[in-house]
Amino acid sequence: MPEPRSGPRTAELSVPQKAMHKLGLIRDIDLALHLPHRYEDETRITPIRNARDGESVQIEGTVVASEIQMRPRRQLVVRLDDGTGECELRFFSFYPSHQKTLAVGQRIRARGDVKGGFWGRQMLHPVFRKAEGELPAALTPVYPTVAQLPQAYLRRAVASALRRVDLTETLGEALDRPPVALRGGKGFEPLWSLRDALFFLHHPTPDVALVTLEDHTHPAWQRLKAEELLAQQISQLEAKRERARLRSPELKPTPDSSALHEQLLAVLPFDLTAAQRRVCAEIFGDLARSIPMHRLLQGDVGSGKTVVAAMAAAVCMDAGWQCALMAPTEILAEQHFAKLIGWIEPLLASRGRRVAWLAGGQKKKERTQMLAMIESGEAALVVGTHAVIQEQVRFRNLALAVIDEQHRFGVAQRLALRQKLKDRGLEPHMLMMSATPIPRTLAMSYFADLDVSTIDELPPGRTPIVTKVISDSRKDQVIERIAAQVAEGRQVYWVCPLIEESEALDLSNATATHLDLSEALPGVTVGLLHSRMPSAEKKAVMQQFKEGSMGVLVSTTVIEVGVDVPNASLMVIEHAERFGLSQLHQLRGRVGRGAAASACVLLYSTGESGRLAETARERLKAMAETNDGFEIARRDLDIRGPGELLGARQSGDSLLRFADLALDSDLLDWARSVAPKMLDQYPMLAKQHVARWLGSKSDFLKA
Ligand code: ADP
Ligand code: MG
Repeated sequence: MPEPRSGPRTAELSVPQKAMHKLGLIRDIDLALHLPHRYEDETRITPIRNARDGESVQIEGTVVASEIQMRPRRQLVVRLDDGTGECELRFFSFYPSHQKTLAVGQRIRARGDVKGGFWGRQMLHPVFRKAEGELPAALTPVYPTVAQLPQAYLRRAVASALRRVDLTETLGEALDRPPVALRGGKGFEPLWSLRDALFFLHHPTPDVALVTLEDHTHPAWQRLKAEELLAQQISQLEAKRERARLRSPELKPTPDSSALHEQLLAVLPFDLTAAQRRVCAEIFGDLARSIPMHRLLQGDVGSGKTVVAAMAAAVCMDAGWQCALMAPTEILAEQHFAKLIGWIEPLLASRGRRVAWLAGGQKKKERTQMLAMIESGEAALVVGTHAVIQEQVRFRNLALAVIDEQHRFGVAQRLALRQKLKDRGLEPHMLMMSATPIPRTLAMSYFADLDVSTIDELPPGRTPIVTKVISDSRKDQVIERIAAQVAEGRQVYWVCPLIEESEALDLSNATATHLDLSEALPGVTVGLLHSRMPSAEKKAVMQQFKEGSMGVLVSTTVIEVGVDVPNASLMVIEHAERFGLSQLHQLRGRVGRGAAASACVLLYSTGESGRLAETARERLKAMAETNDGFEIARRDLDIRGPGELLGARQSGDSLLRFADLALDSDLLDWARSVAPKMLDQYPMLAKQHVARWLGSKSDFLKA
């Protein structure tokens, strides 16, 4: 929630005022930008004779009867006559004040859905008031609100904010070459100013095509979306320029074959792919500069991001600095970096330096040792979980932080990392890695401040994974298939969504599945892994699976990312309909890591309804149709929208309220092109614009 920016202290506020604060409606501009989600038409009166069954209308007439009937239940029944016909108004809940307003002889305006026709018209619980004054000239706004904030109160607050608010034009020359959408499509109409757009959207004239307000294509909406996108682009560009003023150590690779990264290449059991070499070069380029790197390395599951991180770490450590590697959970940190450590540790040892490990569940003595190694600088590489950013951890000279699965870390944690790692007035370089690729439009908007490197090719020798979507009524066949795989010496993952029986959710329970599979597969070692197991036990299970002595591993989603067992060739996901698309893709990526043909079985259950929800069906279809993480991310964006894709944690707040990245790419292009000009030529206007739109949210954009 944004901090109160002005006005009285919260303690002195009334209930509706508090509710407004909670909704972030604090400044006049916040209220002015709080737009109706629909409208009611009170500008017209329909003669009762013309009101048709099912129509929503406003009528006006005199009350000719008003009485309380007791059958079939207590209700107030009022008859309204306007000279053209009569209409009955019925209320099942009402107060004495209602009866007073609706007394015989009163002139009333009522609005609601008409039932019945010529033989008797009726409205159930219509909105009504005394027929006084002229009809409004504009549609009546209906605002998004909460229970403690009545619509009428909010309407008054917005109207008075609109009268006061400063809507000085901030775009100026940015509008010299306006995007097509702003011109109302025809190209010759005058552009809408912010003031006109806002006044119109709060109180549109009744002749407007309502659909253009609903789908936000009306030029007044386009103006708001353009403003919003521009604010976002300016603030990101500003963040980028601020970062460019900071200093980082220049980490240049040693040019000869004694260099750590050269030695690393020599011990790797494979050659880097062309894509890996390209992104390494991009990262090395950043590291050699004195401004902090802020780069996202994206690449599909299994594309080999870890070894790229190792190369970057090698350059950093060779230059005499420390490097930190972080993953979101202990098991991931371990799985993820086990190979990397295996390669690097011996090379470091010959230089008298070491790898330190930090995680939550560590013994005190071990932890103290690690902390000492980190502080003295003996540890060149520090690997772990969030524990790496805790207060007691003091680096001697940290120069590079690598964050794996960065989307699982929150904005606040990334900010904390930057704060914490400030050392000698220098900023560390940051490399973030993600297997969930960011679609282009998102990269251009939310992540405009981030440089992106992409690994767009998988290591050679992988066979594509075949994905099958199967009803759980055919589980038996799946189990036969498992038996066949294990008989060939292959290994199998079986993923369940929950670890304990929950009556409410009726999810398969990993423990029960473990028993079932053990029974159904005599002679096969079936292991169990779930998040509530002690970490030593988890380690032991993973170890057994890695060594190949365990044929089937039943697990909750703890294996979601990072586990690397090339001999595993079949992934079964139970209740696949309950998983998100990117999660399914991540899980599928656990197989297909070796040369053997691999498969993924998505077992779905339709439950009692016998049908799958539409979005679940789309997700499973997408999985069956493509193995391409980028395509998956695009479809995910279509199915869920960017807010969810980013997760509230990451976006800080829903930063784009009005613009829709999928539909407004022309406005986004325009905003991208004018943002630098605004910052360079009209810095004051740019600042005013960002403050108007983002207020205190702009901090989130800088993480
Ligand atoms: P991810 O990008 O999902 O983090 P990893 O870094 O875990 O992928 O790599 C997946 C697997 O591919 C690992 O076993 C890794 O050792 C292997 N690998 C990485 N690069 C190559 C390559 N160029 N050739 C062959 N295997 C590779
Ligand atoms: Mg990885």
